[in-house]
Amino acid sequence: MAHALGAPAAPAILRNTELDADTVRQARVDLAACFRMAGRLGMHEGICNHFSFVVPGRDDLFLVNPYGWAFSEITASRLLVCDFNGHVVAGDGVPEATAFFIHARVHKNVGRAKAAFHTHMPNATALAMLEGPPLVWAGQTALKFYGRTMVDEEYGGLALDEQEGDRIAASIGDADIVFMKNHGVMVVGGSVAEAWDDLYYLERAAEVQRMAMATGRTLKVVPEAMAARTYAQMREGDRESARLHLESVKRILAREEPDFMH
Ligand SMILES: [Zn+2]
Repeated sequence: MAHALGAPAAPAILRNTELDADTVRQARVDLAACFRMAGRLGMHEGICNHFSFVVPGRDDLFLVNPYGWAFSEITASRLLVCDFNGHVVAGDGVPEATAFFIHARVHKNVGRAKAAFHTHMPNATALAMLEGPPLVWAGQTALKFYGRTMVDEEYGGLALDEQEGDRIAASIGDADIVFMKNHGVMVVGGSVAEAWDDLYYLERAAEVQRMAMATGRTLKVVPEAMAARTYAQMREGDRESARLHLESVKRILAREEPDFMH
């Protein structure tokens, strides 16, 4: 299902002590917290799926999980630092191949996509397996994604070269949410907190939509003007709400599985 990246030999050393800066350390902890909570909530898939984040202050490098480790095993220091050419600059191991080929290209080609989270989380993925639009605008939580969702209809098998990542990056436009048909989802954001917040609520929105669809009754869709208005209302406080959401996740984990910070 997944492949380790056959990366070229890594450059031997960290090129900069800035990789040890507090902001980088904080990014590692934030990202590790997302892995742990995603694992707890069943949003993971074995040793597949990947979250990445551009190293603060270094637009040519990104943090990503190493291949072979489950989300529940990720710690701040276990995350790899990679460049866009497939070199592991810091850390033990290599990223999963599709992690590199998709995430590196998205980070490189879409400047605002500092964070890129890719999962096969079951509810959202189930909707990505249907003909037509995956999300319907029938629930308030779904409206958070009303104006920034893209559907990639072109399933191309495993992304084992740069083309798939380039294609996704080129079609992403202003969207933060990409439903990858027949595959899963990708969420991009300007911060780890925003990507986490979107990933979490996307799965919740998909879950309740599936429950509603399972009744076999017709879904009551919110009229377009109201959907757009509610979306605008929700987006107003989203950045702060996302920050608080991640703080809450970190508090819970600090109490119950503090090794994620190591
Ligand atoms: Zn995938």
